[in-house]
Amino acid sequence: MMDLHCHVDLYPDHQEVLNDIKSSKYYVLSVTTVPSAFEGTVQLTSGIKHCKTALGLHPQLAHLRKNELPLFDKLVDRTRYIGEIGLDGSKGYADYFDDQLEVFTHILKKCEGFDNKILTIHSLNATGEVLEQLKLYPNAGTAILHWFLGTKKQVLEAVELGCFFSIGPAMLTSARGKKVISWIPQDRVLLETDGPFAKVKGKILFPSDSDAVIGYLADIWATQNTVIIDQLSLNFRCIVAVN
Ligand code: MN
Repeated sequence: MMDLHCHVDLYPDHQEVLNDIKSSKYYVLSVTTVPSAFEGTVQLTSGIKHCKTALGLHPQLAHLRKNELPLFDKLVDRTRYIGEIGLDGSKGYADYFDDQLEVFTHILKKCEGFDNKILTIHSLNATGEVLEQLKLYPNAGTAILHWFLGTKKQVLEAVELGCFFSIGPAMLTSARGKKVISWIPQDRVLLETDGPFAKVKGKILFPSDSDAVIGYLADIWATQNTVIIDQLSLNFRCIVAVN
């Protein structure tokens, strides 16, 4: 299975998360929040073939680190995976929305120069704005909306745009999260944890914890875990298949 949104470099104990990745053999997308963290994060997981490092600039850091965009450009051909990127309209960050837009659109534009990027996208309190930008840059790559909490209309809009959705155990702890999951087509679902930030019952999530979502999906779609696992594998292959 998989965890397509995990901040491997930000766990308090690196060895603990590396052990989880190695023993679970899960495919892990190790996202970064600033371009200057990319090299070190690649090093951290070197030798683990089923762990890939993504190059990102997190919207909550856009106003502080937009000076790292030239470094982003320098590194962009080193990886197929881009993230964490996106927009955040939450209190404390909405004030810097112009900086966020500058960073996000710069990155989307840059990705349009390639034909195979896979992007993991943050959209907290900015779901509509994120979709608007994805519409403006349709050739940026395959977008995975991470922990997406939009309206039903926005979910359908995102599906129309070709987006996938990564769902983690923390999303199952809210009624709103569950509602959103019920609108997502089965062929667009993927798994994530957003560890170490996301927690369930106060406990930090590790990549292998993403399998908690499998049973939940089997329940709501009235099927067996094995059917869900097959569907998730198929969805994942669909994303990584060379265009
Ligand atoms: Mn994250």
